[in-house]
Amino acid sequence: MATRKPKKIEPAETLVACENCRYFVPKEGRNECRRNPPTMAVDFQDGGTISMFPLVDSGEWCGAWAAKLNS
Ligand code: SF4
Repeated sequence: MATRKPKKIEPAETLVACENCRYFVPKEGRNECRRNPPTMAVDFQDGGTISMFPLVDSGEWCGAWAAKLNS
């Protein structure tokens, strides 16, 4: 009697993009990268300064990309 070979299951491919990164945080209509602490930015309208996390698009990526944790 012939036996079937077990079907090899390929793991789902993870797309390397900000939206799949553990540091990606969608917040209030914008996407923040929380890889590093916030940095100072100049508000050119009033000349003041603010601190903020870098804003990223969901399809971007960088060399610090890391898969999301399972927690
Ligand atoms: S891929 Fe890079 S820029 Fe994008 S969320 Fe992750 S750490 Fe930030």
